[in-house]
Amino acid sequence: MKKKYLIGNMKMNMDYSHLEPYFGDLARIADNSNNVVGVCVPYVYLELAKYMLDGTKVLYGAENMYHEDSGAYTGEISANMLNDFACDLVIVGHSERRSYFHESDLDVNKKIKKALDSGLTPIMCFGETLEERQGNMAFSVVEKQLMGGLQGLEYDEVSRIIFAYEPVWAIGTGVSATSDQAEEMIAFAKRIIAENFGVKETIVLYGGSMKPSNAEDLLSKPSIDGGLIGGACLKIDDFEKIINVKVE
Ligand code: PEP
Repeated sequence: MKKKYLIGNMKMNMDYSHLEPYFGDLARIADNSNNVVGVCVPYVYLELAKYMLDGTKVLYGAENMYHEDSGAYTGEISANMLNDFACDLVIVGHSERRSYFHESDLDVNKKIKKALDSGLTPIMCFGETLEERQGNMAFSVVEKQLMGGLQGLEYDEVSRIIFAYEPVWAIGTGVSATSDQAEEMIAFAKRIIAENFGVKETIVLYGGSMKPSNAEDLLSKPSIDGGLIGGACLKIDDFEKIINVKVE
């Protein structure tokens, strides 16, 4: 059975008192799983993540970073700073960053380059809005995001990225893409990446209202390598059910 990647995105949720038991439980769950388990947490909890997760099977990291090493960028966090906490992962280009904080494909591109140069694994998010899907633009939007975000990268770099297809209309709405819609777009993204960068074994996750009730259906699709899980990662019991889904 192929390993799946199940990675939580906590967003601006949780607090210190809940995270101590949560990280302990997650380490135990990952230890008993054949899948790859990860979690991206608010910056301020990275110290606790390092203390509780470094040396376990759980990959952990941040939900964002800035592309410069240091300087007058009030409020920003660099890749070097993430490395101080032994991070494995960093989410780049989440649709909430793109829409609320106006991050462009060029910003995403700079962050991916810096993350890779710094030894971090970027999780590059892409996905269309509802209007774009309804206007038959979903595939062209995804192609543009991928080509913009990966501009100037070589084979060796692209092959170290984890991708996440997250249709904006499915994030936090409770309405997941159907497994056929997710499969179709992820297969398309893999083709774009293979044709343009020669990388044939790309890891592409699905994200958008994945939960225990739909995880098996989504994860059993051949092109879907795992899930980026927002809301459902906040309850450890739900996250555990998703991590332990059995697919052929
Ligand atoms: C996300 O924001 O990455 C996400 C997938 O959220 P949710 O699972 O809550 O839709």
